[in-house]
Amino acid sequence: QDDKFKKVISHAKEYGYVFQSSEIYDGLSAVYDYAQNGAELKKNIRDYWWKAMVQMNENIVGIDAAIFMHPTTWKASGHVDAFNDPLIDNKDSKKRYRADVLIEDYCAKIEAKIEKEVKKAAKRFGDAFNKEEFVSTNGRVLGYQEKINSILSRMGSSLEKEDLPDVKALIEELGIADPLTGSKNWTDVKQFNLMFGTKLGASAESAMDLYLRPETAQGIFVNFLNVQKTGRMKIPFGIAQTGKAFRNEIVARQFIFRMREFEQMEMQFFIKPGTQKEWYDHWKETRMKWHLSLGMGADNYRFHDHDKLAHYADAAADIEFKFPFGFKELEGIHSRTDFDLKAHEKFSGKKLQYFDHEDNKSYVPYVLETSIGLDRMFLAVFSNALQEEALENGTSRTVLRLPSVLAPIKAAILPLVKKDGLPEIARQIIEDLKWDFNVIYDEKDAVGRRYRRQDANGTPFCITVDHDTKEDNTVTIRHRDSMKQERVKIEDLRNIIKNDVDV
Ligand code: ATP
Repeated sequence: QDDKFKKVISHAKEYGYVFQSSEIYDGLSAVYDYAQNGAELKKNIRDYWWKAMVQMNENIVGIDAAIFMHPTTWKASGHVDAFNDPLIDNKDSKKRYRADVLIEDYCAKIEAKIEKEVKKAAKRFGDAFNKEEFVSTNGRVLGYQEKINSILSRMGSSLEKEDLPDVKALIEELGIADPLTGSKNWTDVKQFNLMFGTKLGASAESAMDLYLRPETAQGIFVNFLNVQKTGRMKIPFGIAQTGKAFRNEIVARQFIFRMREFEQMEMQFFIKPGTQKEWYDHWKETRMKWHLSLGMGADNYRFHDHDKLAHYADAAADIEFKFPFGFKELEGIHSRTDFDLKAHEKFSGKKLQYFDHEDNKSYVPYVLETSIGLDRMFLAVFSNALQEEALENGTSRTVLRLPSVLAPIKAAILPLVKKDGLPEIARQIIEDLKWDFNVIYDEKDAVGRRYRRQDANGTPFCITVDHDTKEDNTVTIRHRDSMKQERVKIEDLRNIIKNDVDV
């Protein structure tokens, strides 16, 4: 698992997907840059989301709010008071950890034990093995599961101040040690606010304290009435947005999974109070369908319903994805009630109500939110796609099986040799295709090497121009996943690529 994750990180660098930020200065912790291919992949994921959420839904519109917001926003939203991480220091090593992450990692170890039992049993029972039956009846597995459940129910998903002593007690009871030194000498658990502060204004006296937004959602809440009125939106309707968010994560690890500067794709859906359960179920299902539409395997997703809820929610679930380091949150679906709009009414003194013509009355709408991290989605797609494949001839190849719709480059056009007019034909094909797709030209090395390079780069098609092309206007098109090659007419290329890339 560790190995796989290391491969993901080095492949992302080697093929121009993700670089460490400011690398020539030895980098900046938990900050990353998207490189030439990464920027394309990220944009394609963002577009795929936007299309599904905004373009395909008549009642959802998109906005692009500023990163800076009036500082009172964050008082109203609860972020000034309640957006904290529980931190614990080890007295011996002087290292600081997120208490909840220490406990999560402990649970992950128990989960790994369950996996081991399952694998062992699968081997023993062969074809007759039924995983669900096994995990629901095997005594040892049930014991492990019970332990995890009891830990999680004590932890919950949001840690209030009064929970902190219990978190420390839990860490001590479980005998959790400093992962680096093994020491079990812990301090109390403290709260640490995650918002980045900054200043607006030139002189020290007149400067105003601001925060970089820790989530995009508030930009939508404060614009709710403007959008509703100018767009003449009728409830139920949604407002979507993608954009940067900033959190001063203490334990920022696991590559682009947890960063200090990251991008969110959020949608707030405004509904009639009392209908939240129905819409919660609807959006859980709809978002899961969106994930499955990418064909990355249903087994790699699961829901995690929260028992303990954040201060603003009456129901919440995560869509978890199987990352190289195990199942982790990829997206959250939250039933936020009227918490945010009511709070903004209170702090701004402005009414944020909707007049319902059907019921002939005004009310503050309830909100359902879907919130996904673009960078996390990138990591899910990229790590799932990267495969080392054994070939029939005994060799192996590295292939990045990105969904075609997301691949940065859709086709590479390759002249078989650098002479005899073949490069010119290849260039002409690029001139025709580049209006519709991101395509590249590559003439360096033997064609087999070029195929491998494109496999590792995630390019779904290679198109080779050879001497026969001059006679009959046909080319060889090679498919990345099957490695199958076909002879097709140049004039058919656009449709062949389009059929594969369109969803
Ligand atoms: P976590 O528990 O992993 O810190 P969260 O529950 O705080 O996440 P939300 O506030 O619900 O996350 O944010 C919505 C989504 O934004 C998450 O599902 C995740 O995909 C993404 N996200 C949150 N924090 C980060 C981060 N530091 N780096 C990258 N993505 C993030």
